[in-house]
Amino acid sequence: MITRNKTFSNLTSGYLFPEISKRRAEFAKANPHAEIISLGIGNTTEPLTPHIVKALTAQVARLGTLEGYSGYGDEAGLLELREKIATVLYKGAISSDEVFVSDGAKCDIGRLQYLFGPKVAVAVQDPAYPVYVDGSVMVGAAGPLIEGTTNYSGITYMPCTPDNNFFPDPLLVPENALVYFCSPNNPTGAVATKKQLTSLVKAARSKGSIIIFDSAYSAFIRDPDLPQSIFEIDGARECAIEVSSFSKPIGFTGVRLGWTIVPKELTFSDGTPVIKDWNRLFSTIFNGPSNIAQYGGLAALQEQGLLETRELTDYYLENAREIRKVLLGDNFIAMGTEIFGGDNAPYVWARFPGKKSWDMFDAILKKCHVVCTPGAGFGPAGESCIRFSSFGHREQILEACERLAGLQL
Ligand SMILES: *Cc1c(COP(=O)(O)O)cnc(C)c1O
Repeated sequence: MITRNKTFSNLTSGYLFPEISKRRAEFAKANPHAEIISLGIGNTTEPLTPHIVKALTAQVARLGTLEGYSGYGDEAGLLELREKIATVLYKGAISSDEVFVSDGAKCDIGRLQYLFGPKVAVAVQDPAYPVYVDGSVMVGAAGPLIEGTTNYSGITYMPCTPDNNFFPDPLLVPENALVYFCSPNNPTGAVATKKQLTSLVKAARSKGSIIIFDSAYSAFIRDPDLPQSIFEIDGARECAIEVSSFSKPIGFTGVRLGWTIVPKELTFSDGTPVIKDWNRLFSTIFNGPSNIAQYGGLAALQEQGLLETRELTDYYLENAREIRKVLLGDNFIAMGTEIFGGDNAPYVWARFPGKKSWDMFDAILKKCHVVCTPGAGFGPAGESCIRFSSFGHREQILEACERLAGLQL
């Protein structure tokens, strides 16, 4: 028989979301009449917008004609879409041949982990999007767990808490490492400033490290002074890769479309451009994104599409405002609750000093029939915190808020 890949046995059993589903299912079974509302998972809920639906539909129709049919396309995506991403979203800070269109940012993170292989050192913000950590363990770049802790060997955890304004100490950036950085942040909702990112870029360059910048939530930024891309920062072209996605801005979580930017200046220690190997990897184990989805992406970057993106993200930001408002209520103040995020990101992050986040999760589920996400599931520095997601229908969000307003521990 084939031996199990050891890297998988290094993974701890509880991936966050299955554990949440398990507890929710147990509660639902014991309380069959409870109407549970989820403010838990970062999945979009509102329908695709008209301009984008029209473009998707038109492309499906073209595929049904002799002249309009196309099979495999360029693995890196339609040139027209790559150009549009470079000009509309990056204002020319990168060129179209540095854009690789894909089936999503999460998938690209996995492929990047494969690209850098099992020997690379890894640093993450703590708390962090679980894929950075678990994917690194799967390729063998990290793991097993350090005895008596919930930390994996091979990973530098850079705490991002209210005490440091959710920005890690640049001195913690290790040498020759992949540094995952997500802004606007999932789970904390924090957005790094230009000054902060400048210090991160400086640290990465002096340590020979590469930043994997995840800008999946950039469309939620409303403050014009906050950077939407790492490539707004001088020197980033020498030390950063950016992954991003159409999932959250236009509800393509199910349609699937994302992209990765690999600048030509970025090299390995032997001088090989990273883009060369990325290109090779992309054309070997990926066959390009869906041609239907790409026409949806193109429409999203046209004037009407950008307007609709704005409206859709405004909707979720309004939900976030409602959640923030209820968490600022007297009952939460009495618990010492501190509130962060939700103004330039679809997540609200609440800290409950002295409480365990899984206990808060259980209490909110039991008393309010609301599912949220325990911060500890995102890393040790997320302990005592809860993530509230603003992805949901307005009525459901308002109903959840009403129940939270009555929460007493
Ligand atoms: C949702 C999300 C993504 C998007 O992943 P896709 O594969 O493009 O759907 C990427 N990064 C973070 C941090 C996310 O929360």
